Amino acid sequence: MRSYKIAIIGAGPSGYFAAQALQNLQSDELSFTIDMIERLPTPWGLVRSGVAPDHPKIKTVSKVFEKIATTTGFNLYGNIELGRDISIEVLKEKYDAVVLATGSALGKKLGIAGEDLPGSISAAEFVPWYNGHPDAVTLTPNLDCETAVVIGAGNVAMDVARMLALEPSELDATDTAIHAIDALRNSKIRKVVISARRGPEFAAFTSPELRDLPKLEHTNVLMQPADIAAALDRAGAEPEKEVRNNLEAMRLISELEQGKHERTMEFQFLCTPKEFRGDGKVEEVVFTTSSGEEKVIKTGLIITAIGYEADPLTGIPYEKGKVLNSDGYVSENLYVVGWAKRGPSGVIGTNKSDAADVMNLLLSNMKEPKPAVELATLVASDKVITQSHWESINAAEIAAGEPHGKPRIKAVSREELLRLGGL
Ligand SMILES: Cc1cc2nc3c(=O)[nH]c(=O)nc-3n(C[C@H](O)[C@H](O)[C@H](O)COP(=O)(O)OP(=O)(O)OC[C@H]3O[C@@H](n4cnc5c(N)ncnc54)[C@H](O)[C@@H]3O)c2cc1C
Repeated sequence: MRSYKIAIIGAGPSGYFAAQALQNLQSDELSFTIDMIERLPTPWGLVRSGVAPDHPKIKTVSKVFEKIATTTGFNLYGNIELGRDISIEVLKEKYDAVVLATGSALGKKLGIAGEDLPGSISAAEFVPWYNGHPDAVTLTPNLDCETAVVIGAGNVAMDVARMLALEPSELDATDTAIHAIDALRNSKIRKVVISARRGPEFAAFTSPELRDLPKLEHTNVLMQPADIAAALDRAGAEPEKEVRNNLEAMRLISELEQGKHERTMEFQFLCTPKEFRGDGKVEEVVFTTSSGEEKVIKTGLIITAIGYEADPLTGIPYEKGKVLNSDGYVSENLYVVGWAKRGPSGVIGTNKSDAADVMNLLLSNMKEPKPAVELATLVASDKVITQSHWESINAAEIAAGEPHGKPRIKAVSREELLRLGGL
């Protein structure tokens, strides 16, 4: 019987799917003990702090994660940060293999003038804020203006625009952080422009998300029929399936009856952001249109949603915002999965097949098992969140939400999370 000890860093989808793949590889001759290390007191990564709260079905994947977590040989070590509480060198020395599943948490920059003005933030800050990420509680997005501009043409941009353009009562039955619901209730924003550099045929929105937009009960969703007609022309007679489905979903949006509601979400295409301008804070954004003209939108809030890159960790090689790797292999006994490996692409399920491939590679490289190791002896912290602590937090949040018809009320500070965990 060979028994290996594997450290997985990061308790997001890719970390859990890597653990599941290892569990599936077990046999009478082979077993794995899996120590999952997570910097937050809570697991589930972007399923908790990224996925939009008004899309609760997506979050049911957490049931799969909990099944993996309660399988023999799996240990959660929350509130332990790689690089702060433990080094990659120690983990590589003590464990048979180490799997990085640390995601990519930094928002990419446009690199244009005015981008650092107050009032300009990244989706990588705004999304964790409304989702109750402990590191984002203190953000104060400017909701005191009539128009907000979201720059980007993917599902994250669409989530952000939707959260700003929703009638806040639509969030009552969600697990949106209470501080965000309160702020959004007082928001003066009535128009959200979502701006794409290229035409509709190149947008990275996916069609199920586009098809959901007309279901917004209190928001006008505007797309110009001429933009979609021109995109259909450019796409030709046989566009790829995704493009065809997207354009069809956009055509339906462009034909919606307009102007019934107080709130509006408006799409603009073929506009390249040139400069954010303002006196000490964002007051307007300047775009260059496809015909080379300037287009100016007055706004006090610009949110960029143009992609993510990994936050570099000491001792790990990075290239173009990702961990430098070859099919998930980094070096010696170090591997990488998920967004840290591929960059910010694909849906949650993409991480499953990807992690399974990397775990097969890991197994094929395995040598003699190392002596057993206890993570507790390697870290000084006495505030480690185990699976049972997390289950207490989870139960307390769900119980807090129940009387309000919410799936949960999230605790947002580390102190409160540790307290709910009994630490
Ligand atoms: C705003 C947004 C909305 C999305 N919506 C959807 C959707 O509706 N449907 C869908 O299918 N996909 C969606 N996705 C994509 C999906 O969330 C990702 O595919 C998935 O979360 C990537 O998983 P991951 O494990 O690689 O990274 P993550 O989910 O980011 O997990 C990484 C984990 O590593 C931890 N970590 C980081 N650094 C350290 C460290 N030094 N030490 C210890 N732990 C660390 C982090 O705290 C985090 O828990 C969305 C993504 C975003 C950003």
